[in-house]
Amino acid sequence: MSKAADSEPLGEIFRRLIGNTGPISLMHYMGEANARYYSSRDPLGEAGDFVTAPEISQMFGELIGLWLADMWINAGREEPVHYVELGPGRGTLAVDALRAARRYGLEPSIHFVEASTALKDIQLANVPGAQWHHDLSTVPMYGPVLIVANEFLDALPVRQLVMTADGWRERMVVPDGAGKDGRFVCVAGSQPMDAAIPEARRQAEVGAIIETCPGAAAVVYEVAGRLKDQGGAALFIDYGHDQLRDGSSLQAVRDHLKVDPFILPGEADLTAHVDFATLAPIAQSRGVRWLGTAAQGRWLRNLGIDARAQALAQIAPEHAAALDLAKDRLVGEGQMGVLFKVMGLAAPGWPGGAGF
Ligand code: SAH
Repeated sequence: MSKAADSEPLGEIFRRLIGNTGPISLMHYMGEANARYYSSRDPLGEAGDFVTAPEISQMFGELIGLWLADMWINAGREEPVHYVELGPGRGTLAVDALRAARRYGLEPSIHFVEASTALKDIQLANVPGAQWHHDLSTVPMYGPVLIVANEFLDALPVRQLVMTADGWRERMVVPDGAGKDGRFVCVAGSQPMDAAIPEARRQAEVGAIIETCPGAAAVVYEVAGRLKDQGGAALFIDYGHDQLRDGSSLQAVRDHLKVDPFILPGEADLTAHVDFATLAPIAQSRGVRWLGTAAQGRWLRNLGIDARAQALAQIAPEHAAALDLAKDRLVGEGQMGVLFKVMGLAAPGWPGGAGF
């Protein structure tokens, strides 16, 4: 779990960089912090920093696999077909989804897009047939793509603009004046940024923050382009909102607790809410169908998670209570059921997806 012993703490690198060249943007800070964080550990599970849906229960991946198989069958079982997962963590979702899909004759080639070499090794051990990619550009260009991304977009760096007495500025990061605890703080950048704000949102009170995620927009744009050209469908699952919002949603999690994002960069998972309201029209602008953005709880229930939990409990009655608990974590209102959303996309001519 610990970081590589020989690597210089990222906070030191930031301090030197900022000392030499001035403040860095919050987006730069978050991007570097997460690159360090993910490349130096397996953060998932009870023993790690946070638990994701596929790590809670096999039912999550299985229902996704069934959804993909249903889409592919209704679209005419075209081959070759590719399963593509962005940020697959330990590969758990892929294992469960592909096992379920196989029962319906869907046996795609498997492609993982992953930046972390630490996680890549775990993924390839769990899914030996997978091919690994640094980004989408090397994923096959021919044949439908079935694309899944769970808790991937929330890890991509956000850009924040803050309203000051002098207008909109980018939020930048500098070491805390006294250097106390090695903490960093946000300051307003020196360049006017008003032109970067859509006219309708430009009037705001001092202190207002607008957060955007250029990386998420770029990924959805690229995925939609692949769907349009090759056929296929995509599911983006993440915590976030389907209405435009103001304010910072940046948070840091370490050892299952929220911590200060500006202490020990690279040692906690930095995430931000995914702005699904902005992402859906980006996909539509490429001629791809947006199937909907559903609350995770409702989507899993529509796909039959209750029946699946019952069936599993019948096979292994000793696990019935644990299965119920796991299901509640995935669909419960105060848990992942409402805050987490599922956004579905489909190529033109592909069927409307179940669950939305
Ligand atoms: N989908 C998994 C893991 C979620 S954690 C699950 O649900 O359990 C986020 C995943 O995205 C990790 O695999 C992480 O290494 C990967 N990741 C984060 N930023 C990335 C980037 N910029 N490019 C590619 N992968 C990234």
